[in-house]
Amino acid sequence: MSENVRVRFAPSPTGPLHIGGLRTALFNYLYAKKNNGKFILRIEDTDQKRYVKNSEEHIFNSLKWAGLEVDEGPNIGNTGYRQSERKNFYKDRISELIKTGHAYYAFDKVDELEAYRSEHAKRGETFVYGPKNRKNLKNSISLSDSEVESILSSEKEYVVRFKTPENSRIICNDLLKGTVKVDSNTLDDKVLYKSDGNPTYHFANVVDDFDMKITHVIRGEEWLPSLPLHTLIYDAFKWEAPHFLHLPLILKPEGKGKLSKRDGVKFGFPVFPISWVTGNEESKGFKECGYLPEATLNFMAMLGWGPGNDQEFFTKTDLIKAFSLDGLNKSSARFDPKKITWFNQKHIQGLKNSVLKKLLVEHLDNENIKFHEKKLDQIINLIKPRLSLTTDVFKKSKFFFQDPLGFDQKDIKKLKSIENVKLLKYLLSVFESPANGNSIDLKKEIEKAALKHSTGFGKIMKLLRLAIVGSFSGPDLFETIQIIELKAVTRRLSFLLNSLSI
Ligand code: GLU
Repeated sequence: MSENVRVRFAPSPTGPLHIGGLRTALFNYLYAKKNNGKFILRIEDTDQKRYVKNSEEHIFNSLKWAGLEVDEGPNIGNTGYRQSERKNFYKDRISELIKTGHAYYAFDKVDELEAYRSEHAKRGETFVYGPKNRKNLKNSISLSDSEVESILSSEKEYVVRFKTPENSRIICNDLLKGTVKVDSNTLDDKVLYKSDGNPTYHFANVVDDFDMKITHVIRGEEWLPSLPLHTLIYDAFKWEAPHFLHLPLILKPEGKGKLSKRDGVKFGFPVFPISWVTGNEESKGFKECGYLPEATLNFMAMLGWGPGNDQEFFTKTDLIKAFSLDGLNKSSARFDPKKITWFNQKHIQGLKNSVLKKLLVEHLDNENIKFHEKKLDQIINLIKPRLSLTTDVFKKSKFFFQDPLGFDQKDIKKLKSIENVKLLKYLLSVFESPANGNSIDLKKEIEKAALKHSTGFGKIMKLLRLAIVGSFSGPDLFETIQIIELKAVTRRLSFLLNSLSI
């Protein structure tokens, strides 16, 4: 097939877009962009019973946030990219299949089918409405033409089923999994169309892919069992089928099975690109939890794809350049929440400092915290390498603006000693009356204190860090102390002194 690549992401608006869906969209997007093709969004809303309000909006906004621009789709000036807008089209197509004998009307009632199913189950068999028994059921193959006419002209409900060929071997091709062979007698005559004028997923999906000139169907592995039927529908229409590629599952962080929303709750990571609200409950997305769109894409891409070398860090542009279907893995990928934080930290380093500064200023303004504009650049420089989430910009810089409110008792226990009390009193005196007016040569002073109190440099640093930052971790202490006012330093030393003296 020499072709202009056209791929589609075809979600059903039955709830929020989850990260598995985002990964499918991403691989379609990357393949389109890599090949100067088109990335199409099609909303598969034929199942009105499962339709969830706001779901479409969540899909659009998630793709937008992630930076997966859609070339054709609803909401960008095109119509006909929502299946609900294409009902007449499906009607014409199903008539065609009935005329050519590849589909037929079926009139069996739901409870009749239910009864067949349970009878079979009792015998340990599975009821298949297919080539072997369709003649014994109520349909346009078993009934006479006049019976069929009369049912169709009455108000009775009917469905249209696909007429699966008997005794044939269906050969399906998947770009990742290779050839899959299926015995047609094991297949159901699937319902393609309902009397309410709605096509089922299988029918609408196939005729839309053909009509939209889709060249590659890249979708989740859960659709692999539908491939034989889809292949048969293409054959029935005498259409050339697109290439198919079914993406392996994303597995839970631990144990067996597919990643689920519950894993997100259990391990504390988001499962949606952006927040999803139902009633009073909000599930925060990657966006709200402080992940950058590019880091999220980078992480998602590596969940099932690799460039063939050990490069892991990719911007969106780099991903497009490096992407190829050959790099997709055959086996499932395990979701590792620690890994996404690692990617995020790396991508944050590529952000302009002004972006982080803006986030910090917003927070300070909201909380009414006073600050020296001039010091912000220095602060951002110091904390940037330590940021894993953009939402942590204040958490990681808080001590520049506010004195510690208290200490962890475990930390206090570690430092509680008569020597440390003496040491702190000494340090306090140094900061209270600096030798050179307002500046202190901290390194020299610590060396002096270490000598005087027969202790190590590191021990003094630990004491100072707890007093200034409120914990044993934080950016370079010498630079930190330069930013914090001398008055605040002495106040914090006294506060720790009090806590150690009690
Ligand atoms: N509407 C299907 C879904 O929600 C799309 C399957 C496909 O891509 O063919 O996953």
